[in-house]
Amino acid sequence: MSSLDNLTVLGSGVLGGQIAWHSAYKAKKVVVYDIDLDAIDRCRATHDQYAAIYLSEVGASEADIVATRQRLTFTTDLAAAVAEADLVIEAVPEVREIKSAVYRDMAGLLPAHTLLATNSSTLLPSDFAKDTGRADKFCALHFGNGIWTMNFAEVMAHPGSSRETLTQVTEFAVEIGMVPIPVLKEHNGYIVNSWFVPLLNAAQTLVTNGIARPEDVDRTFMIGGRAVGPLGMMDMVGMKTSYDVLALWGKELGDAQMSANADYIKERFLDKGLLGVPTGEGYYTYPEPAYAHPGFLDIPDIADLPDFVASMLPL
Ligand code: NAD
Repeated sequence: MSSLDNLTVLGSGVLGGQIAWHSAYKAKKVVVYDIDLDAIDRCRATHDQYAAIYLSEVGASEADIVATRQRLTFTTDLAAAVAEADLVIEAVPEVREIKSAVYRDMAGLLPAHTLLATNSSTLLPSDFAKDTGRADKFCALHFGNGIWTMNFAEVMAHPGSSRETLTQVTEFAVEIGMVPIPVLKEHNGYIVNSWFVPLLNAAQTLVTNGIARPEDVDRTFMIGGRAVGPLGMMDMVGMKTSYDVLALWGKELGDAQMSANADYIKERFLDKGLLGVPTGEGYYTYPEPAYAHPGFLDIPDIADLPDFVASMLPL
């Protein structure tokens, strides 16, 4: 059994909020830290939604929900946030400079025994090991969005991670109900994002370049039994993180299409305050997105085909 009972989560956004809620549900004492009070308010509001999901889908009792809430605290004070942490999971934006700065700011504030893990989607623990000041106590622990059903956690070492750190962090993952997945070599995107990011990028390319309407990209993916298409998934990831990932890798790989996709997301969504599921609107509007409506995958009425044909002709 790990001795990691006190968890601090850095970043109260889409993933930080889920990791915090789920760990508290699984009996960990959790402090959530963010630089932005509004983000903390949004996190509390999503926790109300998770409470409803855990009651209806995860088998939680009302008493479990009360206990989960009692184990969660929120702060904008980094020193207070980490003062008693056994494990800190970092879930701040997918931007190298922001992550590096957080690790550097935290280094002098941590108790000697505290372990650190990054939930980064596509960056490597090696990128930040030096900033932590405790490279042996640091690795990656990567969760999936929708943690209550996507219950895997990818564990990835950097060359300096100690055996004890990897053991404790993996035990922690098991204790909160995750299937731990070992990543055998450091790799940008682990296993899951090695196909998930290219999928989202390919879907976005079709939309950015006007090849297909978002709904039709998703229809082609969903016919055959999948519940959500890649653009619906992008709403769930959140437009901020979708943008951060495509902007980062468009630049680093010199991939002009990926950068154009990032620009599209910025102009079409971020600049209008549309962050996807977190704000209730992205490609779809929530809580009842069009792709979840009966009929989304139906064969169209013959009478509607003129509109269908018109969409393919020049204006
Ligand atoms: P998000 O944009 O929803 O949330 C990030 C949060 O970090 C915001 O609340 C922001 O206010 C806060 N923040 C910004 N700078 C900070 C700082 N210096 N200190 C503390 N908090 C700060 O992002 P997210 O989608 O939750 O992603 C967070 C991390 O998790 C990223 O590395 C991302 O790649 C990874 N991740 C995301 C998903 C996903 O589906 N969204 C899945 C797996 C991993």
